[in-house]
Amino acid sequence: MLEITKENIEKAIEKARATKPKVKVLEFRRYAVTNKTTGANYEVSFTKIGGKKFADCSCPATKICYHIGASIGAHIVLAEQMHTATA
Ligand SMILES: [Zn+2]
Repeated sequence: MLEITKENIEKAIEKARATKPKVKVLEFRRYAVTNKTTGANYEVSFTKIGGKKFADCSCPATKICYHIGASIGAHIVLAEQMHTATA
C-alpha cells in the first residue's frame, strides 16, 4: 500500500494527463485503468486510514503510478457525489 501525498499524486496526475489511460469505475474506490496504446490493464484501489490516503495498483510500480493518478480524478468526483468530504 502506498501513501498518497500532495507531491507524488501531482506527479502521477501529470503523467496520466500525458498518457491518457482509460479509467473504468468497478465500484466505489476501485478502478480499472487501461493503457490505450499497449492494452495493459491494471486495477487501482483507494483506502483511507486514520486521515491518511493510500492507494494500491496491480502494476509492477513501487510508487504512486500514473494509473493511480488517472483514477484519482474519477475518485474525487465520485466521492463528492457520495457526500464524503475527501477522496
Ligand atoms: Zn500502476
